[in-house]
Amino acid sequence: MPLVTSKELLLDAQKQGYAVGAFNANNLECIKAVIEAAEEERAPVILQISQGAIKYAGLRMATTMVKTIADEASVPVVLHLDHGTSFLQNVQCLHVGFTSLMYDGSAEPLDTNIETSAKIVEIAHAVGLPVEAELGKIPKIEDYVDAKQADELRAKPASEQVSELRKIAGASVEKLMADPSQAEHFVKSTGIDFLAAAVGSIHGMWADIWPLRRDRIEELRNATNLPLVCHGSSGVIRTRADAEAKGIELAPNECTLEEAVKIGICKVNVATAVSMAFLKGAWEAWQTRRTEKDMRKILLPGLQSAKELIRGYMRLFGSSGRVAGSAAVAASEVKHAE
Ligand SMILES: [Zn+2]
Repeated sequence: MPLVTSKELLLDAQKQGYAVGAFNANNLECIKAVIEAAEEERAPVILQISQGAIKYAGLRMATTMVKTIADEASVPVVLHLDHGTSFLQNVQCLHVGFTSLMYDGSAEPLDTNIETSAKIVEIAHAVGLPVEAELGKIPKIEDYVDAKQADELRAKPASEQVSELRKIAGASVEKLMADPSQAEHFVKSTGIDFLAAAVGSIHGMWADIWPLRRDRIEELRNATNLPLVCHGSSGVIRTRADAEAKGIELAPNECTLEEAVKIGICKVNVATAVSMAFLKGAWEAWQTRRTEKDMRKILLPGLQSAKELIRGYMRLFGSSGRVAGSAAVAASEVKHAE
C-alpha cells in the first residue's frame, strides 16, 4: 500500500495506548527485515532514514528502496526523516516523498530551535505532513565512554554496567533532559506534531539495561498532550522481569520501556539493537560456512536475526495485531499478484 503519514499512526497509538516502532532503513536487508516483521506481526511501522543512512546510500536511493518495498507491503508504512539537520534537508525530504519529518535543533539555543522547527512545520503542514522536533538533548554513549572503556564495561555484569554508567553519565543525562516548563511554550510556538523529548535515554547503547525517567515522561505528556517519541531505545531496559533477571534496580522515578509506552511514549526508535542483531546473525552464519561464496546466504541469517528482534519489540510496544489480516493472507496476495 502507499506510504501513510506518521500522524495517522501515532494519534491512534496515543488514543489506544500503544507505540509504533521506528526502525532504520540502513540497507536493503534491514528494510526487508522491518517490513517482513511488520507483516508477520500485522503491525503498522515507521521506516526512518538517519543521517548515517543518507551518507551511506544517498537520499534518493534510500528513499526509493523504502517506497518500493512499502508499495508492496500489506501493512501501513511511514517514511520518516530521523534527526534532520536543517530546514534545507527537511525541504529536500519533503520534495522526494517522505511522509514524516524531523528537525533536531537540540544543539541550537532554544530560540533558534523554535524558529527553525516552526518554519519546517509551516511548509510541512501546508502539504499535510507531520513534524517531530527535539527538546532537551538525547546524548550518545560516545559522549561518556570511549571504545576501550565501552569494551571493558560490556564485559561486566549488567548491574555493574548500570551502576558505573550512573556514576559516569547520570548527572549529565539528567541535566540534558527536556524541561517540562519549556515544553508547552515549545509546542505552542512551533506547532509540532510529536515531541522527541530527552527523558533519560542514551543513543547507541550496546545492551538494553538503562532506565527511563517516569516522572519526566508524565510531566512532558501532561504539559504537551502530544505523542512522545523515545530515542535511544536500544539501551532501555525492556520490562521489570528483564530488570530483575539482570539484577538492575530501578529508582521509584524510573521505568522500563514497556511502562513508558503505557504512560505516553507513542513512537519508539530502535536502531543499534537491530544493527547488532543483524551482525550477530550474519557472523554466526559465516562462522559455520567459511567456504560460502554467495554473500546473500550470509546476509539472510542476519536479516532473520534482525527480524526476530523487531517482532519482539513490536509485541512489547503493543503494535502487533493492530492491522487487519494475516501474514499468510498477505503472502498469498503477493504470490497471486506475481
Ligand atoms: Zn535519535
